[in-house]
Amino acid sequence: MAIIAEYIWIDGSTPTKKLRSKTKIIHDEISDEHLNDEGALKLSFFPKWQFDGSSTNQADGDKSDCILRPVRLYPDPIRGGDAVLVLCEVDKASGAHHPTNTRAKLRDVLARGGDKVDAWFGFEQEYTLYEGSRPLGFPSERRFPAAQGPYYCGVGADEVYGRELVEAHMEVCLEAGLSIQGVNAEVMPGQWEFQMGGPGAGALKATDDLWVGRWLLYRVGENHGISATLDPKPVPGDWNGAGMHTNYSTTATRAPGGVDEINAIAERLSKRVPEHLAAYGAGYEMRLTGHHETCRYDQFKWGVSNRGASIRIPANVAEAGCGYLEDRRPNANADPYEVAAVLLRSTCDLH
Ligand code: ADP
Ligand code: MN
Ligand code: MN
Ligand code: MN
Repeated sequence: MAIIAEYIWIDGSTPTKKLRSKTKIIHDEISDEHLNDEGALKLSFFPKWQFDGSSTNQADGDKSDCILRPVRLYPDPIRGGDAVLVLCEVDKASGAHHPTNTRAKLRDVLARGGDKVDAWFGFEQEYTLYEGSRPLGFPSERRFPAAQGPYYCGVGADEVYGRELVEAHMEVCLEAGLSIQGVNAEVMPGQWEFQMGGPGAGALKATDDLWVGRWLLYRVGENHGISATLDPKPVPGDWNGAGMHTNYSTTATRAPGGVDEINAIAERLSKRVPEHLAAYGAGYEMRLTGHHETCRYDQFKWGVSNRGASIRIPANVAEAGCGYLEDRRPNANADPYEVAAVLLRSTCDLH
């Protein structure tokens, strides 16, 4: 019996990396050594593979081969049955990590002491749905919908656009075993959010799940004739941008009295603003304007319940005296591997 495996990787597009995938049909005999205790295929069953790096901005044509090295498996909810999604890191043909392989850089930060704080990450991935060249809910040509206000968490065909796709995406995320925490309609029509990671989700699980959740969003969108974009400011003017708020906790912030450590982390972040912004997605200046629930990119503020701050301490966390903080600065198009790595570096004073 053949296994259908969708090998997924992250390319070298600039300024924002994109997802790629291709299908491998594996006809090999499955022996017991390839099965885990639950009878599922192990990662070791899936061979390395190669692709044309000259078509993904990862190699020159005369030395075009790049290597896909499987790192995490998910049941494939699109194909069902025994099919799997195989998330991969990219190596150079020499075997060294490819410069675009930010997951390897996150692993390096974890190995150099970043894992000691047992960080959990909860990403709020905002995105905008498009049919053709206009966001869903935007009338054709140069007309605009009624001003923002009723759309966030709204209900009704006059306020909410694309729910069928959003629900279908949520279902496949669950079937794939992703750490999805919820979904909601956002402030601009056609804009939505899903949350990935959360309590118990370590750096690699939360970030891998987010990339696979993005892939599933695009893939399910194909079935609906709708595309999704992570553009941080899809419509200029008085319309909210799209972010990837990153909720973050460590053993110390979660322990009783952990709010002191939350303040200490915020203090450390205040001294490393440029390093963080560099990891928070292209075009952050367009989104972090000081309006639309953001703090200006060249300012740094933190505070309880403040959605105009760079770092928000949720009200329930302030009340409990421990928990997590929310970094509101990452753009929707940020690479979660880079976001997690820089937060761990600042928290643990690594360079
Ligand atoms: P809001 O829209 O009010 O900013 P959301 O509910 O969309 O908040 O997102 C908050 C996220 O924080 C959730 O996905 C949740 O899983 C995550 N979260 C909760 N507790 C922790 C924690 N201790 N560490 C990391 N993330 C957390
Ligand atoms: Mn949210
Ligand atoms: Mn949101
Ligand atoms: Mn938020």
